[in-house]
Amino acid sequence: MTDFSPLIADLHRFCGPGAVLTDDESRAFFSQDVYRIGLKPLAVVRPGSVLALTQVVAAAIAKGVAVFPRGGGISYTDAYLPTTESALVLDLRGLNRILTINAQDMYVTVEAGCTWAALDAALKPHGLRPPFWGPFSGSKATIGGSLSQGTATFGSARVGPSDVAVIGLKVVLADGSILTTGSGAQPHHAPFFRHYGPDLTGLFTSDSGALGIKAEVTLQLEKRPNCVQGLSYAFQDAQACYSAMAEAARSGLAGEVFAVDAELLRQSAGNADLRRDFATLLQVGRSGSGPFDGLLRMMRLALAGRNFAKGIPFTVHVVTEANDQSRLKGNVSELRRMIEPYGTEIANTVPTVVRANPFPPLAVMAPNGRRLLAIHAIVPFSVGTALHAVTEKIVGHYANVLHENKVAIGYSFATVGRTGLLYEPVFYWEDSRELFHTRESPADMLAAMATFPPNPSGRALVQRVRDEMVEVMFAHGAAHLQIGKAYPYLRERDPSALALLHTLKRHVDPRGLINPGALGLAMPGPQP
Ligand SMILES: Cc1cc2nc3c(=O)[nH]c(=O)nc-3n(C[C@H](O)[C@H](O)[C@H](O)COP(=O)(O)OP(=O)(O)OC[C@H]3O[C@@H](n4cnc5c(N)ncnc54)[C@H](O)[C@@H]3O)c2cc1C
Repeated sequence: MTDFSPLIADLHRFCGPGAVLTDDESRAFFSQDVYRIGLKPLAVVRPGSVLALTQVVAAAIAKGVAVFPRGGGISYTDAYLPTTESALVLDLRGLNRILTINAQDMYVTVEAGCTWAALDAALKPHGLRPPFWGPFSGSKATIGGSLSQGTATFGSARVGPSDVAVIGLKVVLADGSILTTGSGAQPHHAPFFRHYGPDLTGLFTSDSGALGIKAEVTLQLEKRPNCVQGLSYAFQDAQACYSAMAEAARSGLAGEVFAVDAELLRQSAGNADLRRDFATLLQVGRSGSGPFDGLLRMMRLALAGRNFAKGIPFTVHVVTEANDQSRLKGNVSELRRMIEPYGTEIANTVPTVVRANPFPPLAVMAPNGRRLLAIHAIVPFSVGTALHAVTEKIVGHYANVLHENKVAIGYSFATVGRTGLLYEPVFYWEDSRELFHTRESPADMLAAMATFPPNPSGRALVQRVRDEMVEVMFAHGAAHLQIGKAYPYLRERDPSALALLHTLKRHVDPRGLINPGALGLAMPGPQP
């Protein structure tokens, strides 16, 4: 048995008091994600500086101990779950400083553990934001975590996934050295530009943390538009829904285009909670462009209530922005003209609430207390209908057994840039909570949720149906964000591309000890 106590003592020395956790509960908590449980690491380490991070990584790997980088920890693809017990989980939320806001040259540099919500709050007074400005989970999701796995939502219909906003990175490699990408990689050069020679920044994004630990990130900025409006539509079938979404995406007029089916809306609506509804109304009021606009929005929302979309098979929500009201009106009428042939306009409750408070406190279960797992595929618009039909066939095949095992499946869809339809089946099932779910959900939300006994057969069924859906996604030519250890990234990939990837991995991490298993890259063999 290896004695790791000298390493643990070194970690304490590098990171200071309270930053190294070896107790059972902490090791258990940090070995879980939204969906599953990995192996317990030796310790959880929270470096508070880039120097401490480099020291931790170099010391651990020199001793043959693997490192698993974790940001907000709210992914569901085993992405940071330890695959060996000889491991450290790196809790990167201690690196959360905003280092530079350069409003003249339009970039911001942050430490990788900063959340999207914290960045948004810091940029708001400057009237700025990155072109991609966060996922729905931005109150917990870190910028480093999002860039390591690829994230979509705010701004994605217009510009694509999170990676497009990045200019440059500082990445800690296995030997503790720091690799810089982008224009900041030369002495006295500002990190203002991404493309100067081959795009090394791109190599380290969406790598699921397999190629190094992101310590600092520079993002480009844009001016925040002054005016925003949401539009919502009802559709009777998936085909009409995708056609309308494609039209809105192609126009380039929408920041976000997303859709949900009736089941997902039902699962996410939760139990009526008057206090929360009132708080939401107030936020909507405050988000108006003036007192009367705010009041009007609140009245519309109150009239529409929680039942605005009851029984509608699919609803699509589109958000458009402009710098002044007349341009906004132009966008809105253009989008209406495009979408109206496919569906019927309904109250815009969903986009209004979403934009009033884009980063609300987040629970990692459905509001009704059910466990949840989202999976997704990104496909061309032309493939959406066929993929949905085959996926529904799988669901139909298992319909009775899903019902018996208390598993429900809803869908959400979104557009990612002009070319991608993000297709997302979401599983909801009755099951017991793990430590992760209790600690990661706000206490008031937990108190309002039902609890359920362990449901091992339901859990196994979710995994089985999930696996079948992922196969079908592969057969339909899907790409994936958030690969983690869950999607078949390496399968049948072009051999030259694979060889380059393996060579790169060996170069930055010769012993294969940075997030082993991520991207499907081989686990290391026995250590010398
Ligand atoms: C309720 C809910 C809503 C969500 N909404 C969205 C959404 O709108 N859009 C969306 O795309 N996703 C969404 N997600 C999924 C998830 O929250 C996001 O993908 C988010 O970006 C994860 O960020 P994180 O900081 O929690 O990353 P983590 O889960 O901590 O890590 C993700 C991956 O990044 C790696 N990593 C983390 N930090 C670093 C680093 N500094 N350097 C190197 N590697 C690192 C990890 O090893 C892991 O592979 C949602 C999840 C939940 C539970």
